[in-house]
Amino acid sequence: MTTDSIHKGVSFDDQPLGFSTRSIHLGNGTDAETGAIRRPITLANAYALPYDASELNWSSSDLNLYARNGHPNQRYLESKIANLEGSEDAVVLASGVAALAATFTTFLSRGDHAIFSDTTYIAAYRLLNEILPKKYGIETSIVDTSNTQNVQRAIRPNTRLIHIETPANPTLKVSDIATIARYAHDANPEILVSVDNTFNTPFNVQPIKLGADIVIESLTKYINGHGDALGGSIAASKSVTDQIRFTSQVNYGGVISPFNAWLINRGSVTLPLRMRQHNASAQLIAEHLADHPKVSFVAYPGLKSHPNHDIAASQLVGSDAGYSGVLSFGLQTNHDGYNRFIAALHIVTSAVSLGHDESLIVFLGENDERQYLYPEAFHQGFLRFAVGLEDADDLIRDLDQALHTI
Ligand SMILES: *Cc1c(COP(=O)(O)O)cnc(C)c1O
Repeated sequence: MTTDSIHKGVSFDDQPLGFSTRSIHLGNGTDAETGAIRRPITLANAYALPYDASELNWSSSDLNLYARNGHPNQRYLESKIANLEGSEDAVVLASGVAALAATFTTFLSRGDHAIFSDTTYIAAYRLLNEILPKKYGIETSIVDTSNTQNVQRAIRPNTRLIHIETPANPTLKVSDIATIARYAHDANPEILVSVDNTFNTPFNVQPIKLGADIVIESLTKYINGHGDALGGSIAASKSVTDQIRFTSQVNYGGVISPFNAWLINRGSVTLPLRMRQHNASAQLIAEHLADHPKVSFVAYPGLKSHPNHDIAASQLVGSDAGYSGVLSFGLQTNHDGYNRFIAALHIVTSAVSLGHDESLIVFLGENDERQYLYPEAFHQGFLRFAVGLEDADDLIRDLDQALHTI
């Protein structure tokens, strides 16, 4: 753990501090100029140059130079994310997709091969299935990574990256991070295993501890938690983050704004409290829906009936951890019935995204272009439900009355 002025309250009496204490104190500190006990938002684009600036490297990201090279609010948030993920360092960029694209474009070159989960966030699919192969000559394989044998079989001599999303959005398949990392590194220690941990957050699962090299989060979701700022992070060793800053942040320019970095730093203070509530409410609602006669299926890793429940349980960080707040479910109805159900909801909002304070639901129809990659139960259309922080009883009443209308 580095101990510069950004870090405060990281350890006490040589005992490591808990996740909640670190979520509150890291990334904050006393402002040297005013004594304010909240670090300010520094909006400046540019910083004063030294006496002889001619020797500076204008692509450098380790000094205050120009905000795209890195800025204080970004660095405060990075110090917190790295600590919570248990990684040596972290880079924070403008969105989760900026973090995904930065990882892929920094480490994949023409002729390299990448393996990725058959269910991923749509932009990861678009990048790895279409854009990088067509424009940059990168070979990619789509694999059901919830079966580790599939991953082992797909590794080639030129495999450079294995990108797994777990739980996967929106099928909620869970992959065995430790076994995949072991297969990858046994085959070739140079292979980077990256995990999109957006659904779990480090409160529930910490992929670095399981052997992953890179952890990507859409900070937009649970880590900010309030639905009002986009951001993304890459947690990894310093050699990985240095390459990402140098190649991608400075030259592709997906830097986060100081204001969004500040908002996410503030929102993340309550991450542990919020995750406990998301975990508990989603578990209750998943169990309730699984017993409802008008529900055709429920996909939630916290249900004992989920095909990957045991591996999901084995990955949890501590006794407070759970299976996060997102579940997918189907209705015993047709296309119109799904739309009627959504229209009948009073509390739950129909909108994309997840990890907000309020509950969000989205109808993913039977014509989704990736239907062929989803399990059979999803083929007639389904709902992705991001359980919010409202009283779980209210949410259940809202769902039940809407289920009556289909
Ligand atoms: C939302 C999401 C992303 C993309 O993040 P943005 O911040 O919207 O760019 C990536 N992965 C997962 C699993 C997500 O849910």
